[in-house]
Amino acid sequence: GLADRLQNTMQKIRGKGKVNEADVKEMMREVRLALLEADVNFKVVKEFVKKVSDRAVGQEVLKSLTPGQQVIKVVKEELTNLMGGEESKIAVSNRPPTVIMMVGLQGAGKTTTTGKLANLLRKKYNRNPMLVAADIYRPAAIKQLETLGKQLNMPVFSLGDQVSPVEIAKQAIAKAKEDHNDYVLIDTAGRLHVDEALMGELKDIKELSNPNEIFLVVDAMTGQDAVNVAQSFNEQLGLTGVVLTKLDGDTRGGAALSIRSVTNTPIKFVGLGEKLDALESFHPERMASRILGMGDVLTLIEKAQSNIDEEKAREIEQKMKSNSFTLDDFLDSLGQVRNMGPLEDLLKMMPGANKMKGLNNLQIDEKQISHVEAIIQSMTKEEKIHPEIITSNRRKRIAKGSGTSVPEVNRLLKQFEDMKKMMKQMSGMQQKAKKKGKKK
Ligand code: GDP
Ligand code: MG
Repeated sequence: GLADRLQNTMQKIRGKGKVNEADVKEMMREVRLALLEADVNFKVVKEFVKKVSDRAVGQEVLKSLTPGQQVIKVVKEELTNLMGGEESKIAVSNRPPTVIMMVGLQGAGKTTTTGKLANLLRKKYNRNPMLVAADIYRPAAIKQLETLGKQLNMPVFSLGDQVSPVEIAKQAIAKAKEDHNDYVLIDTAGRLHVDEALMGELKDIKELSNPNEIFLVVDAMTGQDAVNVAQSFNEQLGLTGVVLTKLDGDTRGGAALSIRSVTNTPIKFVGLGEKLDALESFHPERMASRILGMGDVLTLIEKAQSNIDEEKAREIEQKMKSNSFTLDDFLDSLGQVRNMGPLEDLLKMMPGANKMKGLNNLQIDEKQISHVEAIIQSMTKEEKIHPEIITSNRRKRIAKGSGTSVPEVNRLLKQFEDMKKMMKQMSGMQQKAKKKGKKK
């Protein structure tokens, strides 16, 4: 999928110390193919690639310490722009009730989302919605909506399953006017596939109820199928927004990008669970991260760049590469890391960090730092370079010399090993993220 393609491309450049224009070109070719394969509109792809290329060959990338990561940052920012735009506002009719039609395939989450949206309208906008049971085909559909209505303590309009959905919608709107319900949410029927009968009925409801919003509910797990579904519904009905459900599941959310590009319809909300409060406004930036499969790596990069002395970082990186990172360097880098804030917080931002062993030992306490300093200063030059030679006798000597204890010396040596592991991890972060993606 899109995410994997981009991931692969990123990986190629991520390890590079320097990026030249040819590298950027090669990368953009990959990005372009990946987006085209993902059914993204050709014009959108062209524009996207141009924007990213312009920025990627610019100073901000080529001159930076970590050009590969900078390119990823640019791609992410532009992905965000592509999905961005207006905030997830909901229409308000100046002649209430405001009518919202919920459409989509069977099982996408229409009924659930109808309840969630009603809940949100009341909680966030202080509205007084009515739910309308217009799915007369599935035996349990009416009951399901009524149950949600009870949970929410909201009116559910139903005329059973013998009256046509168009008639139900018509009478529901009249009733809402009477009862001063300012929003009418019509839960319509779905089918397993887009078909003419379904579209015909939805068009009839649309014509009669003149909705202010038509929200397509799509299951994010269905990936590229969701794009085709969105396209059909948009062509036939003219959508005003998309709700992407089941993002709490194992999906990368690549569909979001394509849906937005292909149908030019904003994604307004995302469903993040089965409960009635599990509906959130759509955040393009979070989705871009998700598509790239990056966790909060970018925040991490930004933090690191603003706090770590570039010269020093280069030095440390070089030492790590040549395997000459010593305990003296460790002491140095401790200071650097300390500037970045609590190490635990940083670790949380790394994809896969929670699965890494040994990181629990990395909590660094301010008081410990002076001990660490003393311990390292009590080591011989050789011990600092090759800590593996530090036998238990030497540990005793070091503890005594530094006025600490053997367990403290042990802990430090363990921390040093973990730190080395972590640094390896940070440079190999991409591989980790990729592995994680594959498992899913
Ligand atoms: P409909 O046929 O389109 O009306 O779909 P339903 O509303 O009946 O939902 C189908 C199933 O998906 C139900 O089991 C819902 O609980 C579940 N569902 C809906 N939205 C979400 C979501 O955002 N996350 C998760 N995990 N499940 C959801
Ligand atoms: Mg339903």
